[in-house]
Amino acid sequence: MLNKELIKVLSKIYRYENSKYDPEKKIDVYRHTDQLAPQQQEHLEASNFEPNRITKYEHNEVVNELKNIIENHNLEYMVSNLFIKAVGAGFNRGIQPIFSYYFAKNMPLHDFKPCSANVLEQNNVCRVCGIQDTVWSNDSKNLYDLYIGYCRFGGYSEILLDLKEILTFEGVIATDDEKNTFLEVLDIIEKAPRDETPSGLLKRLSKERCLPKSNNISRTWIVKCMAELGILRNSYDNDYSIMNAFVPYEQKLEWELNIHKSSLPRADVEFPISSWQGELGINRALANKIIDNASK
Ligand SMILES: [Zn+2]
Repeated sequence: MLNKELIKVLSKIYRYENSKYDPEKKIDVYRHTDQLAPQQQEHLEASNFEPNRITKYEHNEVVNELKNIIENHNLEYMVSNLFIKAVGAGFNRGIQPIFSYYFAKNMPLHDFKPCSANVLEQNNVCRVCGIQDTVWSNDSKNLYDLYIGYCRFGGYSEILLDLKEILTFEGVIATDDEKNTFLEVLDIIEKAPRDETPSGLLKRLSKERCLPKSNNISRTWIVKCMAELGILRNSYDNDYSIMNAFVPYEQKLEWELNIHKSSLPRADVEFPISSWQGELGINRALANKIIDNASK
């Protein structure tokens, strides 16, 4: 697990002004030698963290690895505890894993199948899971993003990176206080006015100060994650939950295009969060399932 001091040093590295685009691999690499104070430089060296670990991912290998990883029987317990800690204690690294786990668990084992040309112009994206046929990733930068609470909900190499790392975590267990805070946050969400939008919800959560140690980034991704988990319902599928079933990439894309048609021209549309509204409320059973899974 990366410590707080290292994350602080990395925040000085992973900035736009330090990035250089590699057009061949289609990734950003980051300069990290001359902008750090000597002490920070020492800390970075002592940590053995390589700021630009570049990895090539192939779809079929990623899918196979994900299917193998979820055979670890401790994983559901771990991701449930991590998510409760993310909500109840501001542990940002805990947001992504619960999505990654259920995505990997419920995704069918399959070979790469390109999207139909009329749905998506890029033919290197798989229509089942959204993972690219071949893609290069800056794993170091992607890992840093997960630590600051920036997530990837869909077919990305980060899903594998995420699950591989949390398997090395030890003793991350949610306390009773954190579980209570998690439930209190749900009570607050449930009090939404009927016409509340996702951005209205975010403003209210910020005002209520109910998410400890949170910021705009972490609150946004916690709320998006709750929509993926189905705790926040959506208007397309009342039973939608990554915990219960896998929705193919092409289906999600189709719903997103649909939401686009009824949204303001420049609105940021993302399924499922964009189709939540206060009156749809929350699904308590799924939240309770997470609490149960964290207590086994
Ligand atoms: Zn696929």
